[in-house]
Amino acid sequence: MIVFNLGCENSHRFEGWFASSEDFERQVDGKLVACPLCGNANIARLPNAAHVKSGAKERPARVGPPVVPSQQYANMGSEVLAKLVEHIIENTEDVGAAFPEEARKIHYREAPERRIRGTASRDDVEALKEEGVEVVALPLPAHRAGKTH
Ligand SMILES: [Zn+2]
Repeated sequence: MIVFNLGCENSHRFEGWFASSEDFERQVDGKLVACPLCGNANIARLPNAAHVKSGAKERPARVGPPVVPSQQYANMGSEVLAKLVEHIIENTEDVGAAFPEEARKIHYREAPERRIRGTASRDDVEALKEEGVEVVALPLPAHRAGKTH
């Protein structure tokens, strides 16, 4: 079946369903199609908006945050990184798995402001960031991973 946008002599618009365009022409020539509003049988096919547009596919502009390249450091050396991590570990309180909760509490000033570290799932980190909590992921050296003070 094909749908055609049709119009009568009185500028009424309506849709007509036909088996094919030949079927449409045959029915119009035979005055078998009449306007449902006024009964006028002088029907003309109107351009179908959907079909007219299909020629040029307009892609909607991509919406989304721009992709910002993340900061990378080169030649840090494992020693520098290890020292940095040590420093962070010494100056943070390990809250372990309670990290997302604690981070949130501190953010909303429900807990004393302090530096904390701990574990959080990707989803947790995403949620925290959305709430405006500053979260930094840092690779822990193997000998430090899982250690609690
Ligand atoms: Zn009409």
